[in-house]
Amino acid sequence: MEKLSPLARRAHLIEAMKTDAAKGLHCGSCSGTCCTFTSNSMQIDSEQALDMKNWLLQQDRWNDETFKSLEDCVEEFRLDIEISHIKIRRTYTCPFFKRSSLGCTIAPEVKPYGCLAFNPKESGVTNGGNCRSNLDLLEAVPAAKDVTKYPIPVALLMLR
Ligand code: SF4
Ligand code: SF4
Repeated sequence: MEKLSPLARRAHLIEAMKTDAAKGLHCGSCSGTCCTFTSNSMQIDSEQALDMKNWLLQQDRWNDETFKSLEDCVEEFRLDIEISHIKIRRTYTCPFFKRSSLGCTIAPEVKPYGCLAFNPKESGVTNGGNCRSNLDLLEAVPAAKDVTKYPIPVALLMLR
């Protein structure tokens, strides 16, 4: 079977976001709590990590500066710690969250599926609180099932 491009795997998620945004359901006025340690525990598989890596390479951002921010994040939020060989799902502030002027610095066509599927349920959300993950859309992602997932910085550092 022909391998789908990163964009093709995310097309329905991006389309749904655009449809929601046209109805006023967008993140434009939010501080981005779903990307910070208050509520972000996003995990990705190796295919999504490779999509991000290839895009970062194109952007000339697959470099020491990025590796340092990934390593700092792993250390600060203890993302590599296991207890009794069980991986704990921890929250963390995503290293790609731009705190100064808010927002994500990853293009939609390579963004984690879970990030694209998480959107507000009402307009004018300023600090999260009324958002949801569209599980039906996530189920429709043509990706391998039951693959191991890791926090974004951990998954990327595994590809360095
Ligand atoms: S990749 Fe972007 S949307 Fe996803 S958690 Fe990181 S900053 Fe937020
Ligand atoms: S409105 Fe919800 S989904 Fe959008 S950035 Fe804020 S917390 Fe995240």
